[in-house]
Amino acid sequence: MNLMQNLLFSLLILASTIPSSLAKGAFKKSLASSDFSNASNASSARHLLEDNDSRAKRRVDLVQGYMTNDDLERAMKEFVQRCSNISRMYSIGKSVNGVPLWVIEISDKPGEEETEPAFKYIGNVHGDEPVGRELLIFLANWLCDNHLKDPLATLIVENVHLHILPSMNPDGYSLGKRGNANNIDLNRDFPDQFVFLNDDEDSRQPETRAIMDWARDIRFTASATLHGGALVANYPWDGTRDKRTYYYGCPDDDTFQFMSSIYSHSHYNMSLSKEFPGGITNGAAWYPLYGGMQDWNYIHAGCFELTLEVSDDKWPNASELPIIWKYNKMSMLNLVASLVKTGVHGRIYSSGDGRPLPGFITVSGINYTVRAGKAFADYHRLLAPRDKYEVVATMPGYKSKNTTIWLDEGPVTLDFVLDPEGSIKGSILQNVYDCNCNSKSKLEFVQFFGGVHLEVYFVFIVILGFLCLLFQRRVKVKNRQAAGAKRTVVV
Ligand SMILES: [Zn+2]
Repeated sequence: MNLMQNLLFSLLILASTIPSSLAKGAFKKSLASSDFSNASNASSARHLLEDNDSRAKRRVDLVQGYMTNDDLERAMKEFVQRCSNISRMYSIGKSVNGVPLWVIEISDKPGEEETEPAFKYIGNVHGDEPVGRELLIFLANWLCDNHLKDPLATLIVENVHLHILPSMNPDGYSLGKRGNANNIDLNRDFPDQFVFLNDDEDSRQPETRAIMDWARDIRFTASATLHGGALVANYPWDGTRDKRTYYYGCPDDDTFQFMSSIYSHSHYNMSLSKEFPGGITNGAAWYPLYGGMQDWNYIHAGCFELTLEVSDDKWPNASELPIIWKYNKMSMLNLVASLVKTGVHGRIYSSGDGRPLPGFITVSGINYTVRAGKAFADYHRLLAPRDKYEVVATMPGYKSKNTTIWLDEGPVTLDFVLDPEGSIKGSILQNVYDCNCNSKSKLEFVQFFGGVHLEVYFVFIVILGFLCLLFQRRVKVKNRQAAGAKRTVVV
């Protein structure tokens, strides 16, 4: 099976006429020549036979040194075995041809819900852009090797849940083409705000569906997909209403420029780009596209996603991968770390009973809502620093509250305590039942003593609930301090 796959892979790569430096911007012009389905016509087949030797050698050389899908799965399994204390591996679904879409989660508490932001990296969205999948394995290994040795590695492992999907399109990779096994460009397969071309849920590709379910399941604060063919950090919007090419910023344009600049300025030479000032670009200003993953994430998943073009050469010689990793390493790390090094973070509580409220955070002047987590009501709101912001917390059934903060370098921790709109009967007892720490044992305790000197136990329960709340806050503040928070504000 393995041999057959490799043979097929080599043959298809051999037949492919993809130019190695096909940029994302040049995609439309080059699609006809890069689309493998067109390469299966008669003239391509003849061409294949004519210069078989030289082309075969060139294509086999191209694949040489890159991981096959089996190699990748093996590398990920070895990684989670080696670094089992800070990682786990799971699948978010399968490709058209049944290849699992494996993810590694890196965190000091993988798989556990914490009051921490989550970040996702996705590689190999386009099958013929394999650099990202290799870089992500470099990244995982570097974090494991440097946890508790390097401050940045430690910061990420202990304060962020980092999810890594090295290959979103394993079929496209093994076929050596841009689209998936059904020849669909996965970065055009998401529902779009301007063009309603992908609204039919049933016709969506399994890889796309897997990403959408994943983003609904995990509350990602930010993410990035890795592409090849150019060197630039691309941010929303990707499309325009009238389909013309011009700068079209989303409500969080400043924040996206800030995030993109973190990537480009941490990179070896991305920010020196002659084509893209500062090494960043608005998607629609470069060229509009529809059905992309980036805009969908921002609109529907509450996730600030960038599209990163990490290598001018789509399929460079594998011997260049270590140097490409070296060029992108600080960018990849700093982008993830920016989730805790900047922005506004906190939790929303009820003043009635102190329990966490899964409410909403908005910022005056920015038409965008960030949702707090269901379990801990923690929120993580990325914002460009060096500005004053009015932050508003809302929750149905509660009076909303707002406060103004100055966001300089470094994060701000801002907790909200909201007052109920009406009185809520039995709220104190409810707090005991809802408390996140060890609530089961407390429930049994209350049942055991029920009816005997109830008023004494009632006071005791209130004190216990208060201590529980206090403990949770201390843990949170400690975590935030570890991430370099400057101050905690409660309003
Ligand atoms: Zn791409």
